[in-house]
Amino acid sequence: ALKVGIVGLPNVGKSTLFNAITNSKVEAANYPFATIEPNVGVVEVPDKRIDFLAEKFGSKKILRTTIEFVDIAGLIAGASKGEGLGNAFLANIRETDAICEVVRCFDDKDITHVEGSVDPIRDIQIINLELMYADEATIDKRMAKVLPKVKSNTDKDAKAEYALLEKCKQTLTDGKLLNTLELSDEENKILKGFQLLTAKPFIYVANVGDDDLAEDNKYVKEVRQFAEENNAKVVKICAKIEEDLTEASDEEKREFLKDLGANQTGLDELIQVAYQTLGLITYFTAGPQEARAWQIKQGWTAPQAAGAIHTDFEKGFIKADVYSYADFEKLGSEKAVKDAGKMRLEGKGYVVEDGDVCFFKFNR
Ligand code: GDP
Repeated sequence: ALKVGIVGLPNVGKSTLFNAITNSKVEAANYPFATIEPNVGVVEVPDKRIDFLAEKFGSKKILRTTIEFVDIAGLIAGASKGEGLGNAFLANIRETDAICEVVRCFDDKDITHVEGSVDPIRDIQIINLELMYADEATIDKRMAKVLPKVKSNTDKDAKAEYALLEKCKQTLTDGKLLNTLELSDEENKILKGFQLLTAKPFIYVANVGDDDLAEDNKYVKEVRQFAEENNAKVVKICAKIEEDLTEASDEEKREFLKDLGANQTGLDELIQVAYQTLGLITYFTAGPQEARAWQIKQGWTAPQAAGAIHTDFEKGFIKADVYSYADFEKLGSEKAVKDAGKMRLEGKGYVVEDGDVCFFKFNR
């Protein structure tokens, strides 16, 4: 499963957010792995489309897609030099697919700020600088290894790799995260192999008090501005309310949030933003047994998408019946979709789109 790492300075609300995630109903009940580490929370991706499909097909079971949140506590200034939990901490981040950075955007005299005052941009710089130092060290090591190959001309890929490393190093020197780099597909492929921390997508979670959910306070505005300049997303959340709401019914939640001027839970929004940030889309399969959402990467072809169900489906792929969820919602049944000529037969080259409902035909 795809993993999102939760990072941030101490006392900004990371544990509160993580508790909200693990105690809430969005936590995946039928997650297939029995033993999950205590700092990992698996959540179901909210999607109303699957409920509608299940209702119309009379499906006995609904299976949603999931993503994992990993609570990565212990980042302090100096981590890249091995201070505190330094290295273990960085290794944890390396394994994630995206970084969710919690930033304190609430005033509360009773809750100490490790840096003495509330200043989200400074906090972001502290965390990001540690990650950038770590990347710089990785890059330097790699450059030292690749340089002899460039000089001796023994490896034809070495030159391209070295050029990319130089580009990365310059970006860090300029004070920018590596995810701000605009790269070719070829370069992106090479970059993946470097396992750099700041090349991952970033989501900033602006943690506010409940009175600042309706309108952005000055801290949130600063974070939004920063994120915009740095190719990142922002989700405003009140972690404390999310934690308090974990026991509430959906209806209670909606009422409560409406009173505060928010239209969905910050948690739902965070999950959705994370899903998009990871470049994921959803297609569906539906029948009387189960309605199921499948998670695939944007750009996957029909055989690849079928492979998400079973590798045999990919190998033996023949063709697929496909229609869009939008048409199904409009017309109300598979038969109506078919009668309206909206069901298509697609072959191997078809690129699956978000919201497609698919039925695969394959050779066993
Ligand atoms: P962590 O060290 O980043 O994991 O931070 P915690 O989640 O332990 O939160 C630190 C303190 O801030 C706790 O006392 C929380 O109850 C409090 N806190 C978390 N979120 C909010 C919030 O949105 N508003 C206020 N006022 N306090 C919060």
